[in-house]
Amino acid sequence: MAPDAATAAGSPPIAADLPPLRVGGRAASVREILTAGVEVASSADAGGNGSDTVPVEALVLTNLANGRWLTGFSGSAMVVVLTADDLLVITDGRYATQAPAELSAAGVDGRVVIANRGSEQQEAAAAAVAGLGRVALEAEHVSWSRYRRFAGEWFGGAELVPSTGVVERLRRRKSPEEVARVAAAAAVADGALAEVLPRLAEGPTEGEVAAELDHLMRRRGASGSAFDTIVAAGENSALPHARPGPRRIEPGDLVVIDFGAIVDGYRSDMTRTVCVGEPRAPGGRVYEVVRASQQAGVEAVADGVSCKQVDAVCREIIDEAGWGEAFLHSTGHGVGLDIHEAPSLSSRSDEVLAAGEVVTVEPGVYLAGTGGVRIEDTVVVTDEGCRRLTCSPKTLVVA
Ligand code: ZN
Ligand code: ZN
Repeated sequence: MAPDAATAAGSPPIAADLPPLRVGGRAASVREILTAGVEVASSADAGGNGSDTVPVEALVLTNLANGRWLTGFSGSAMVVVLTADDLLVITDGRYATQAPAELSAAGVDGRVVIANRGSEQQEAAAAAVAGLGRVALEAEHVSWSRYRRFAGEWFGGAELVPSTGVVERLRRRKSPEEVARVAAAAAVADGALAEVLPRLAEGPTEGEVAAELDHLMRRRGASGSAFDTIVAAGENSALPHARPGPRRIEPGDLVVIDFGAIVDGYRSDMTRTVCVGEPRAPGGRVYEVVRASQQAGVEAVADGVSCKQVDAVCREIIDEAGWGEAFLHSTGHGVGLDIHEAPSLSSRSDEVLAAGEVVTVEPGVYLAGTGGVRIEDTVVVTDEGCRRLTCSPKTLVVA
């Protein structure tokens, strides 16, 4: 397929065409939770199945994606302190210009403190929570050494609460502007794949194909790849997270290509399995089963449907074909500022899908030593079903 002329080099970055992302209202949503009670991570399960909730007077964010979601600031170092009447972003001199500009562009009413020394950062944070009783930290994101500093110098006067999932739960439902960013990232990836597939017949290595996809996504306006691009040929395709290497793509190989783009911080995630010529047995049969499983999974996604149910729909078709043991992972995951975020589409999930959530559906079958097939789309949940954001054709034989 010929490259799309509209996205040739020289066209403006795709992010410039997106609707502005205004995030100023998010602090109010988080404050409501702080007052009502944050979920406390139980010591028995730091993964977040805590059941107690405790009201707190402040929340301290150290996770970069959570901080970005709340403030619009995209830097690589920040401590965000949210109280009833203050939203404080503490960062360092590298972001003296960028941080206030990003808060302003996002419509966020907050303060930025630029401080290079730990002691200065600590003073600003301590002042923001002075006199407050309970301060929540993000239990899953604070290292042991940082916790010791927070409990000592930073917030020593307060009772620290190990909260879990406060911002992550709010991040699940995307605004139309956020969906537009994931969709733009998905479109970039679709375009890059269409440009690369005809070249597989030339016998490139896995690494060359991965590098080409990464390059083309940048050329089409992505700020980067959503994660390390996977290109796995032949026996390597049986490894769900194979690293692209020197193996050449040859006729008859199943080739699993799993990749995505980042546009304005938001990620896409898509897998296609392809073959130059007819696949060696049982590749064609495996492909048909995974294709049917993935399609049934996408058709099962809708507001109000449990994540467990979507996983079960995909798994049943693969089980019936006799390859249940070869479906080595869960069916999907949320996508947004992070490549893996809530909710999880797994048999162990107790979560229910809601309109506006962006999730993947990606069943796979992996036959060790032989090869594997995975097919994945990123979709946005709607009231009646879902809308696919990754739109590349699902055609096994590509050349
Ligand atoms: Zn993927
Ligand atoms: Zn995925």
